[in-house]
Amino acid sequence: MDKQTRLDTEQKIDRLLPRMIADRRHLHRHPELSFQEKETAGWIAARLAELGCSHIRTGVGGHGIIAEINGMEPGPVVVLRADIDALPIQEEKESEYRSAVPGVMHACGHDAHTSALLGIAAYYESLQGKFKGTRRLLFQPAEELTPGGALPMIQDGALDGADAVYGVHLWTPVPAGQIKVRGGAFMAGVDEFTIDIIGKGGHGGMPQDTADAIVAGSALVQALQTVVSRNVSPLDTAVLTIGSFQAGEASNIIAGHCRLKGTVRTFDPRVRERVKSRIAELVRSVCAGYGTEGRLDYRGGYPPVINNATEAERCRAAAIELFGADAVSESELITAGEDFAYYLERVPGCFLFVGAGNEELDAVYPHHHPKFDLDESSMRQSALLLIGCAERFAADWTA
Ligand SMILES: [Zn+2]
Ligand SMILES: [Zn+2]
Repeated sequence: MDKQTRLDTEQKIDRLLPRMIADRRHLHRHPELSFQEKETAGWIAARLAELGCSHIRTGVGGHGIIAEINGMEPGPVVVLRADIDALPIQEEKESEYRSAVPGVMHACGHDAHTSALLGIAAYYESLQGKFKGTRRLLFQPAEELTPGGALPMIQDGALDGADAVYGVHLWTPVPAGQIKVRGGAFMAGVDEFTIDIIGKGGHGGMPQDTADAIVAGSALVQALQTVVSRNVSPLDTAVLTIGSFQAGEASNIIAGHCRLKGTVRTFDPRVRERVKSRIAELVRSVCAGYGTEGRLDYRGGYPPVINNATEAERCRAAAIELFGADAVSESELITAGEDFAYYLERVPGCFLFVGAGNEELDAVYPHHHPKFDLDESSMRQSALLLIGCAERFAADWTA
């Protein structure tokens, strides 16, 4: 982007910001859960039509929407994605845009992702075709709940002919105004599992006739702690958490059944497979050693978010050009997951964090917290950043 184009773009986004804020507050008042975003999708489609978007597909992979805006000059298809779903959380913060739906809340900022992407739609419409290629805007449902909304949208053509894909997550642990970039592995692959241990219950005073599922379960929890410490290289990263241990009825009855539930976070497909196979081996062998049977139900969730190295550098350069070098830094690894991973498995691209924390606005709570809120001015940065990445890709593009 030359300097004049950058200033024009900034001015346009500044003028669009009040509308992005109004849109975000509307969505915040009317949240819908993953896979149930019917009203939200209808409202987005109406807003896109209002902005003059004529190429809109609704009902993509569920409640997804694709809007395409075409430039007059030949160029690449650049995909920009926002997610649109909310969470099953009762909002605890008082504000004029507080959730009107009991027990449902935009506690991850997807309302702001959607509104910033609507701002981007308005921006590209305002160019009246004076840009290279196509900008395909994805409004994706069901990010918060596996199997997620990304795969169904991809199966329904969201990436057909795509040359690059970019997305941002507004992030309150990072102060507003700051951008975080990371090439390669960035966010964790998230798997979940349930282990049922079948023993033989009996009298608490006569253990010799039983196979105690609690004793086997306790031994298994301890054994599972060795997977990360003994089977994963110290140079790799993994988390294995048992979050639930349920067994037993009374102090004088030996439990015949025990159920463990846990989650695995990894950043490398090889580590992920290694952890998974070690869990299976330990479930089988430890349970057998205690005369019980272990049954593992391992459910693979989102794969790790792995940013294309070239695209991460392109986005970093775009961010520095827009906001200055002091505003852009390397992100640490994040042990949360994101179904943006599926796009990155298929098309070169990058997922970035845009700071949205602000103590003065009480936007200090982590994502998924009942008092979560964000600095709405961060939608300006996220819209500019996605446009900057797309335009840099288009400028560098050769057919
Ligand atoms: Zn979330
Ligand atoms: Zn999120």
